Amino acid sequence: MQLTKNNLQEKQQQIYDAIVIGGGAGGLSAGIYLQRYLLNSLIIDKGKARSFWMQELHNYLGLPADTPGRVLLQQGKKHYDSLNGDFLNGFVEEVIDEGETFAVRVKVGRQNSIEAVFRSKYLIAASGIIDYLPPLDDMRNVYEYAGYNLHVCMVCDGYEMTNKQCGFFAGSEAAIAEMVFNLSWFTPYITVFTHGAFTVSDSLKAKLREHGYPLIETPIKQFRGEHHRMTGVELIDGSIVELETGLISMGSRYHNTYLKGIGLEMKGGNLVTDNMCRTSHPRILAIGDLKVGLNQVIIAAGDGALAATAIWREIRRAVGAKPWVENLPAVTNG
Ligand SMILES: Cc1cc2nc3c(=O)[nH]c(=O)nc-3n(C[C@H](O)[C@H](O)[C@H](O)COP(=O)(O)OP(=O)(O)OC[C@H]3O[C@@H](n4cnc5c(N)ncnc54)[C@H](O)[C@@H]3O)c2cc1C
Repeated sequence: MQLTKNNLQEKQQQIYDAIVIGGGAGGLSAGIYLQRYLLNSLIIDKGKARSFWMQELHNYLGLPADTPGRVLLQQGKKHYDSLNGDFLNGFVEEVIDEGETFAVRVKVGRQNSIEAVFRSKYLIAASGIIDYLPPLDDMRNVYEYAGYNLHVCMVCDGYEMTNKQCGFFAGSEAAIAEMVFNLSWFTPYITVFTHGAFTVSDSLKAKLREHGYPLIETPIKQFRGEHHRMTGVELIDGSIVELETGLISMGSRYHNTYLKGIGLEMKGGNLVTDNMCRTSHPRILAIGDLKVGLNQVIIAAGDGALAATAIWREIRRAVGAKPWVENLPAVTNG
């Protein structure tokens, strides 16, 4: 059921088996599994999942290679709705561990927003990350190409960049050192851009030179191209660098602030989990991009299945096997 400002009251009285924070690929998958295990779940999602920005999903088994992320999300949401799971568009501000339950405080509505508190026995953190993009004066110019041939993920789109003239847009010296030489697996035609945001050490400059990769430290004015196809960049000095594709590697924002009060084991911004997606808190699970691992749709969807199954096992074991009452020997008194 879609929750709205009008029907929130009653839902705040019940205790869900699980609340899933984030309705992207991972969260929807978890919700589908939870409902099919006959558990009751609520997905809370603020919208614009990372998969929403994915224009073509080239590497997912069984889907046409040009499937847009938003189609995957729409289908997933429809599937979850058909299983009668609850879904709320809202922003989770805080999670409080109350012992037996979690209290999840949510801001609902952008204008005239109200606050609601939902409770559950288990929590699945599926709120993902979002990529930093080159900070240009006109950000619409970046959105025009990001997710098309201006990529953010080498694992996802390295194949798309094979042997193309590729701009590598770095957010730090470490990003250059870690990524550029791996990117050369797909294409050696790499030009590195710092956007004037940081300095590059002499040793790394020398290594780039040894590999023949130009380094451009002049800030970028704008990306060039048309119909979402980036064809190069214009620098602030007016010079133009022709490109066929690009990879942005400027770091990510982790959507984990609502968990700050709970002291979970983290690695950088990611949550550390075991092989069933359990965090260091026995009733909080983490899936998809927010946990340590590979940031891929297929992993997020698989994580959703694991986390829901871990929760089902625990609840099922606590409840025990249900007897077929009519087949039990009659109890006689005296
Ligand atoms: C441009 C682009 C191209 C990509 N291409 C591919 C590809 O080809 N193949 C591939 O496998 N992967 C690709 N990826 C990666 C893929 O999108 C992610 O790995 C995947 O979306 C992770 O799923 P998730 O459920 O963990 O997170 P998301 O899909 O990001 O979902 C998280 C959801 O949680 C919500 N949320 C965050 N904080 C809160 C909060 N406090 N309260 C409520 N909701 C919250 C977010 O708004 C979002 O809707 C691409 C990513 C990008 C950006």
